[in-house]
Amino acid sequence: MAEKNRDTTAITTGRNGARALASDISTSTTWSSSGLDETHNEAVAGRRSKLYSRYTNPTVRQFETAIAELEGAEDALAFGSGMGALASVVFALCSPGDHIVAQQQLYGGTIAFLNGPVRRMGINVTFVDATVPGAFTAAAKTPRTMLVIAETPANPALALADLAELGDIAIPFTVVDSTFATPMSQQPLAHGVNLSLHSATKGIGGHNDALLGVIAGEAELIDAIWAYSVLHGATASPYDAHNALRGIRTLPVRHERQCASAMQLATWCEQQAKCNEVYYPGLASHPQHELATRQMSSFGSVFAIDIPGGIDACRTFISALQLVRPATSLGGPETLICHPATSTHFGLDEESLSGALASDGLLRISVGLEHVDDLRHDFAQAFAAIKPTQ
Ligand code: PLP
Repeated sequence: MAEKNRDTTAITTGRNGARALASDISTSTTWSSSGLDETHNEAVAGRRSKLYSRYTNPTVRQFETAIAELEGAEDALAFGSGMGALASVVFALCSPGDHIVAQQQLYGGTIAFLNGPVRRMGINVTFVDATVPGAFTAAAKTPRTMLVIAETPANPALALADLAELGDIAIPFTVVDSTFATPMSQQPLAHGVNLSLHSATKGIGGHNDALLGVIAGEAELIDAIWAYSVLHGATASPYDAHNALRGIRTLPVRHERQCASAMQLATWCEQQAKCNEVYYPGLASHPQHELATRQMSSFGSVFAIDIPGGIDACRTFISALQLVRPATSLGGPETLICHPATSTHFGLDEESLSGALASDGLLRISVGLEHVDDLRHDFAQAFAAIKPTQ
């Protein structure tokens, strides 16, 4: 059969030979054997064993197979959250004295993790501005540079990192957090990046009912990270893997609709007098729009706006919304809004906050599946609620 379209792959993938169209939830944490020798053989088989659910679980394995196929990867490995995935990658690959180059525009939890536990373990971190061409390459030059961490499009203000530059960097490992893009909008591995990482809690799961992380890449590297992660223990739950696998079946249609609505709303916001700035890679006004068109096939469900009047105006704007809900996740069916400086990026120092672009007036909007006219109407009355003095 000719190579399948990714939309079709989302429907056919992850069954691992099962005839059941929906996945069964494999709840057992352990499997019995015929005796000492068989248990020993399973223990030796490691990840491929039927030994213990922290090693592997059939439902989680179905989810991993699906992600590997959607990402064009040899293999994938799931975790209990996106942060679990990131922590396992960093501690599997880096030792005290090693050096990490990370983008300064990142999810707040990732910045806090790199500045806190990672530095505490004696791993050095250099943050770079991903929007400056060549910045990753220039910083990744120390003899101990082991890992480059990028996130594109980045939380919260949709800055992009150049996947081709990342794929060309000659250091041991590169990982790209592709959460905002989902496997439908971009393929980091096709550019030569070593690992694609997702918080599958977001668009992949897509229904706000699964907390999951996942990485995809070459089998040898995934196996090496598994050998660490089985000890780290940020294990994915089969219940969440089941929900996310169900989410994958509708990911292409959800994502297409959400990208289209995000584009319409971002375009409309640009015309509003009480909007200073709109950040969406699909807009011609995005400073990296040309890069977006080179590496993304669609531009994602998240955009951000900057409104005059800082935190007070943001509070007024959010309070006036009737349909859009204030909440910190993204990629689900409900349109959500958050003020990153006081939520997803709260607690970071001033330098990290401004590096991440989480300014006082910035609002991040995750566009859901409601009718776009109803969303536009809701945003219109929120803009109207901002007083000229704010
Ligand atoms: N990466 C990005 C881009 C995120 O937005 C988030 C969470 O918001 C994470 C990683 C962390 O994922 P999780 O909440 O599943 O641990």
